[in-house]
Amino acid sequence: MVSAEAANHRDGPRTGTGPSIIDELVASAAEHAAVAEAPSRTPRPARRVAVVSCMDARLDLFGILGLKPGDAHLIRNAGGVATDDVIRSLTISQRKLGTREVILVHHTDCGMLTFTEDELRRELLEETGTKPSWAAEAFTDIEVDVRSSVQRVRQNPFLPHRDHVRGFVYDVDTGVLREIE
Ligand code: ZN
Repeated sequence: MVSAEAANHRDGPRTGTGPSIIDELVASAAEHAAVAEAPSRTPRPARRVAVVSCMDARLDLFGILGLKPGDAHLIRNAGGVATDDVIRSLTISQRKLGTREVILVHHTDCGMLTFTEDELRRELLEETGTKPSWAAEAFTDIEVDVRSSVQRVRQNPFLPHRDHVRGFVYDVDTGVLREIE
């Protein structure tokens, strides 16, 4: 097994050495290919909705929202924050692929509540000598963050469809999805 440190100093992509979860995922994909049916013949989501959500591993968006493959665009990042890149995806989703509504799903016990912006920037600067060009967008209040992301979407002029933009907090303990007004 390659140590994390050795892996960090390796030149080029890390391929095929040591055990990796990716091998399990690739094996799963091979089994899936044998039984999978194409969900749709078009990249345009059938239910014309985009979901912007945190990348949190506990959020089963298909299960929570009753979605099937082919139904919706899922746009995920750390925190489900409406960053410039989320706006990029939403712009393409609405203008080129026909979606009309946006639902934002943040959640309790988010990893973004566990550190501060300054802390992360200091850590990166100390370890690498460089500050990131991006903001981590860490937050301290989940409701404030949902409102802020909803506002960013509602106010973005690149998006032609902003009448149905709603934000929610999913409670990872109870499974309840609560709307933030
Ligand atoms: Zn999260």
